[in-house]
Amino acid sequence: MPEGTYADIIMPLSLEELYTYRIPGEMCKKVKRGRAVVVPFGRKNKYTGIVYNVHKKKPEIENIKEIIKIADSDQCIPEDLLKLWQWVSEYYHCSLGEVMNAAIPSALLTGDKNKKFKVKTETRLELANKLKEKELSAILDSLQKTPARYRLLITFLEMTSDDSGGITKRVSKSDLIRKSNTTYSALNKIIEAGILKEITEEVSRFNGVDNANGELKKLSDNQEEAYLHIRSALNEKNTVLLHGVTSSGKTEIYIHLINDALARGEKVLYLLPEIALTTQIISRLKYYFGNMVGIYHSGLSDNEKAEVYERISGNSSLGEYRILLGVRSSIFLPANNLGLIIIDEEHDSSYKQFDPAPRYNARDTAIMRAHIIGARVLLGSATPSVESMYNARTGKYGYARLDRRYGSIKMPEIILTDTSEAYRKKTMISHFTPGMVNAIDEALANRQQVVLLRNRRGFAHFIICTDCGWTPVCPNCSVNYTYHKNIGRLYCHYCGSYDSMPSRCASCSSTNIKLKGFGTEKVEDEISILFPDAKVERMDYDSTRKKGSIEKIIKDLEDAKTDILIGTQMISKGLDIENLTVVGILNIDGMLFYPDFRAYERCFQLAAQVSGRAGRRRTRGKVIIQTANPYHPVMKQILNNDYEGMYKSQLDERKEFDYPPFTRLIRIYLKHKDRTVVNMAAEIISVNLRKVLGTRVLGPEFPPHARIQELFIKSILLKTDKNKSYKYIRELILRNSAALHEKAEFSSLRIYSDVDPQ
Ligand code: ADP
Ligand code: ZN
Ligand code: ZN
Repeated sequence: MPEGTYADIIMPLSLEELYTYRIPGEMCKKVKRGRAVVVPFGRKNKYTGIVYNVHKKKPEIENIKEIIKIADSDQCIPEDLLKLWQWVSEYYHCSLGEVMNAAIPSALLTGDKNKKFKVKTETRLELANKLKEKELSAILDSLQKTPARYRLLITFLEMTSDDSGGITKRVSKSDLIRKSNTTYSALNKIIEAGILKEITEEVSRFNGVDNANGELKKLSDNQEEAYLHIRSALNEKNTVLLHGVTSSGKTEIYIHLINDALARGEKVLYLLPEIALTTQIISRLKYYFGNMVGIYHSGLSDNEKAEVYERISGNSSLGEYRILLGVRSSIFLPANNLGLIIIDEEHDSSYKQFDPAPRYNARDTAIMRAHIIGARVLLGSATPSVESMYNARTGKYGYARLDRRYGSIKMPEIILTDTSEAYRKKTMISHFTPGMVNAIDEALANRQQVVLLRNRRGFAHFIICTDCGWTPVCPNCSVNYTYHKNIGRLYCHYCGSYDSMPSRCASCSSTNIKLKGFGTEKVEDEISILFPDAKVERMDYDSTRKKGSIEKIIKDLEDAKTDILIGTQMISKGLDIENLTVVGILNIDGMLFYPDFRAYERCFQLAAQVSGRAGRRRTRGKVIIQTANPYHPVMKQILNNDYEGMYKSQLDERKEFDYPPFTRLIRIYLKHKDRTVVNMAAEIISVNLRKVLGTRVLGPEFPPHARIQELFIKSILLKTDKNKSYKYIRELILRNSAALHEKAEFSSLRIYSDVDPQ
C-alpha cells in the first residue's frame, strides 16, 4: 500500500507553489502533515521542508524525487499552526515557505547535521552507589589524610542534602570545585576511587531562578472592577481591549489573569512590541511564576531559540514553559493548550513586520490564532489604536477602562515649550529651550532622574557644504548619510554602507563643511557639556547591539547610577523607574508632519507613552515638550491628555478620506535597478487596477526615499472595500503581477504587497 504515496512539501523559500516528492516505503508511517523532512532541491541543494499533505495522486512530472529522511530535529508542526500559516500566507500575500521561515528557529530547520540544534550538556556528579550513613562516615574517615578530597566530599554532601536529609541531587563539576576550593585532580581521585561518578545531563541555556511563588498583589478597587469585567467579557467575546492610563496597573491585571489561566491548565503567550521591554517584565513574571516563564526575541542565539521552542511545546526534558514572554515572532511558537494571549501596547507599529515577508501584524495574527483554537485575547494600551478602539466601540471587542494611576498618583504635568519663540529671542541653549534646561536642572538638584527622547539616532543627520550646498548621500540609496561621532564615520541607516567624514567638499573643494540636525549622540554630547556632573547614558539601536547591553542600561537606571538617559522610542515604553520624574521630548514636530495618515495618532501615542514614564511612584512627574507648534490641535490633545478628542477627530478624518478602520489598505511595491522599468511597470499595473477598482487606486508615487540599496521604488496604494471579497482582490493583484513578469523587460522586477501597512 505505501508504494506510490506522495507528499506536497512547503519549502523554506519564497516560491508560491508546493513541491511534490515520493515517500520511500520505510518512511510511510512517519511522514504526515506537519512533519519536517529533508528533500533534495535543484541540482545539489538539500532543504528541510514541512509536509503540507500526503496523497496518492501521481504528479505529472518525470523523475520525481524522493524524500531523503525525516529531519534530525523530528519536528511536527501542529495542525492549528498549519492553519495559521495558511491564513498568514493568504491574508498577507506571501508564500507558505516565507511564513515557515518566520515561524521556526533556523537551528531546527537546517538539514546539515553539523549545524543542527545542539542540546547543551554538562557533566554532573552523583554518589556512585547508594551509600548508607555508616559507609559514608567510614569513607570520610579514610579521606582525613587527604584534606582536598575530604573537603570535596563534605562539600558535595552539603550541596546535595536537602531538608529531609535524603541524598538525591546532582551537582555540577565546576560548582563543586569552586565551592570546595579544590582542584580537578583531587576530584579525579575521588571519581577513580568509585565514590562519585560522572553523569552527562542536558542543561538549559538560560539561568533559572530559585525563588518564585511570590504572592500576587492585592488589586485596588478599580483594578478589581476592571479585572472582573475583563473576566466576564472574555466569556462572551474572543477579544477584550483594556484601556488603562500609564501606571494604572495593567501589568498587575495581566498577572492575575495569567494566574487564572495557569490554574485552568492553560498556557499563556504575552507579547510585547520590543526586546527592551521584556527586561523589566521578565523579572516581574519570574517573581510569581519562576521557571515556568520563557522568553523569546531576536537577541537570542539560534540554539537558545530552539530550546525555547521545544520547551513551550512540552517536548523537552528541561521543564515545560507555561508562559511565554516574547516579541512578534513568538506568535508562531507551538504552545499547546494555549488559553490566553496578552498583547501589551497593542497600538505599537513594531507588531507589524515590514521586511522581509511575511509582512504580518502579530496582533492581528494573534487574534486569528486564538480564533482557530478557541483561545482568548486581551489587548492592552494606554493609547489604543484607532482601529482597536473602533472595534471596541462597535461591540466587536469587549472593553475595560482604568482611568486612574495606581496609588492615586496624579498624571504628569505637561509643559509645552515653544522653540520658534526661543530661537527668535535667542534664548535657546544649544538645542534646548530654557524650560527644558531648568526642568533638568531642578530634577538633578533633587536627586531625581531624567529621560530625554530624541527619535533619531546618530550624531548629525546631514552634512552640508555651506559654500555650494553639497551633501554626501549614500551611493546605493537616495538618503543622506548620518554622521556617527563614536566611530567617526558616515552611515546609511537604510543599507548599512559607510564612508569617511569628508574634510573637503566633493563638489567645490571648500573646507566649510557643517554638521546639521541632531541625533541621540549629539544630544548626549551636549547634555554632558551642560550638566558635567550628571551621569549620562544613551539607549538606541547603536548602543544596544551588544548582548546584555539593554539589561545593563536599564539596571543602571533602576539603581540610580544613571541621572539622565537619552534615547530613541526604545525608551518610551514600559520603563517603571521609581525615581524618574522628568521626561523631555525633543523635536516632536518631525513626527507631527510625517507624511502618513497616522502621523497625528502616532505623535499622540508616543507623547503619552513616554510621559507615562514620569512620576510613577511618589512625586508627580513633569513632561517638557519642545515644539514649534504649541497651538496645533494635536498638541492641545497631548497637553490635556485628551485621548477621546484625538480618537474622535482621527475617526472623522478616516471616515471622510476612506482610511482604516473603514477600508483595508494594501500597498503594492515595485522595485528595480532601472528607473524607467519601475515607472513603466507601475504605470501598467495601476492602469489595470484602476479599470476594476476605480478611484480606490492611488499613485503610483515615489516614496520619501525613492532609491534604497540600488533599487528604485514606486508604490501604489489600494483602499479596498472591507465588504468586498478579499480573495478577489488578492487574485487580482497576483494576476497582474504575474502578467508583468511574463514580459521579458520586467522579468527581474520585484513586486510585493504590504497588507495593512503601518
Ligand atoms: P501599567 O502596566 O498600567 O503601566 P503597572 O502594572 O506597571 O502599570 O503598575 C504601575 C506601578 O504600580 C508598578 O510599580 C506596580 O507594581 C504598582 N502597582 C500597580 N497595581 C498595584 C497593586 N494593586 N498593588 C501594589 N502595587 C501596584
Ligand atoms: Zn561645496
Ligand atoms: Zn544606503
